[in-house]
Amino acid sequence: MTSLRKDWDTYFMDIAFMVSTRSRCPRRHVGTVLVQGKKLLGTAYNGAPMGVQDCSEAGCMIVEEFTAPPDDSPSSEMIKKQRCIRTIHAEQNLLLFTDRVDREGSVVYVTDQPCWTCANMLANSGIVEIVYHRSYPKDHEKVASLMRQRGILFRQIANYNAPPDTEVQDGS
Ligand SMILES: [Zn+2]
Ligand SMILES: [Zn+2]
Repeated sequence: MTSLRKDWDTYFMDIAFMVSTRSRCPRRHVGTVLVQGKKLLGTAYNGAPMGVQDCSEAGCMIVEEFTAPPDDSPSSEMIKKQRCIRTIHAEQNLLLFTDRVDREGSVVYVTDQPCWTCANMLANSGIVEIVYHRSYPKDHEKVASLMRQRGILFRQIANYNAPPDTEVQDGS
């Protein structure tokens, strides 16, 4: 009989997805957990600072930016993208709510591949491994290269199904 017991990757990624459901930004729900050995040391999601109106109350705070098209695109036209800047990213909240001593040698599980800014901060946070599920192609190359230089294990669990009702449809 096959065991239904979850492996550790699935176990901690499931928790990260559960945590992401706390987010109140309709555009993006990101959850992350800090793990040392097999011990959970912290959880965080993307959200406005405490005591400040969040996206569900005040609406998203949208900025527009232009990015270069992918290499295989027939057009060289810049692509306009919108993103919400009201929330502190999950990874940054994780760093705000955990201690440096706890982070030394720890692993970060995060529902989405960290953006460049979060990756840069994680690279300097004491952690030794980042595990993510959903990809974020825009920053992938430079983040992967940073982690290689820094000697931080950076891996995607692609073959994974999030727990039911924890994945929000992208509102953008
Ligand atoms: Zn928002
Ligand atoms: Zn980020």
